Amino acid sequence: MDTRKVIILGSGPAGLTSALYAARADLKPLVLKGIDAGGQLMLTTDVENYPGFPDAVLGPELMEKMEKQAARFEAELLHQEATRVDLSQRPFQIWSGDEEFRALALIIATGASARMLGLDSERRLLGHGVSTCATCDGFFFRGQDLVVVGGGDSALEEAIFLTRFATKVTIVHRRSALRASKIMQDRAFANDKIEFVWDSVVAEILGDGQVSGARVRHAQTGETRDIPAGGVFVAIGHTPNTSLFEGQLDMDQGYITVQEPTTKTSVDGVFAAGDVVDHIYRQAVTAAGMGCQAGMDTERYLEAQGQ
Ligand code: NAP
Repeated sequence: MDTRKVIILGSGPAGLTSALYAARADLKPLVLKGIDAGGQLMLTTDVENYPGFPDAVLGPELMEKMEKQAARFEAELLHQEATRVDLSQRPFQIWSGDEEFRALALIIATGASARMLGLDSERRLLGHGVSTCATCDGFFFRGQDLVVVGGGDSALEEAIFLTRFATKVTIVHRRSALRASKIMQDRAFANDKIEFVWDSVVAEILGDGQVSGARVRHAQTGETRDIPAGGVFVAIGHTPNTSLFEGQLDMDQGYITVQEPTTKTSVDGVFAAGDVVDHIYRQAVTAAGMGCQAGMDTERYLEAQGQ
């Protein structure tokens, strides 16, 4: 079986930038893109804060450009997901179903996934009015009242986006202060289609087969009330995609720990970059930056190994 110099897991900004750097270092990287290829930017519309795009760029378009750029330098990209890894031996073993891959070095850029509320009704109605992606599903809710859960930038961004389609968007937040940045708060407060329900949690998503509303409970008084809505968008943050590496790499609250300022993990020859490491900045540009670091760290590691 072929042993690759480097395999990269993930195809968001971190994975594809590491692929670009590894490819330009002539390491002929193999990228296992994952099921949600392109990562979270595939779920956004306008990206206004990625340098070099003064008029904004669409998230999926940016990812397409990054993929093309990596492929131009002979990165090989497969639309496959790693389902198991063994980092205890050399070369490292990576499986995608029954198919096995081997590599001298590994870059983990598996990103993070949307966090859910954990309600039975949420699970039952997912895809039937419950969504974690306004840009994917907003279109289907034209002319309806909607609920967005959360108080961070994601929640406000989703809510603002949804006002394009919805008649009204109610943001349900568990505290009385938002976590989101000032500029997003200003935009949300200025939008007359957006209402806030403070100090409240969603206790139940209502609907039989299709969402009809949300039952919210006041965090202090315990009082509940029902908000009629055709859709409930959950935007309460993300969980790193690291279950594959549990027990094999050092982690902190599920995020892979690296030896800053490098991207070295606790296993020599395994590097990590992007949202799978970073729970603070979580930006496309910081993920791309870390991807660059991981590509360079890998090159230096392999060179030191005489490769
Ligand atoms: P976040 O900043 O972690 O915010 C998550 C929000 O959900 C918080 O308000 C949190 O409440 C709430 N929450 C968490 N668990 C909850 C639960 N079980 N029930 C109810 N509410 C819950 O996550 P994010 O908004 O996804 O943003 C992540 C990062 O991406 C941030 O750094 C953000 O700046 C960045 N981002 C930027 C943009 C932009 O610049 N346009 C857009 C999207 C994201 P508490 O506040 O009480 O903790």
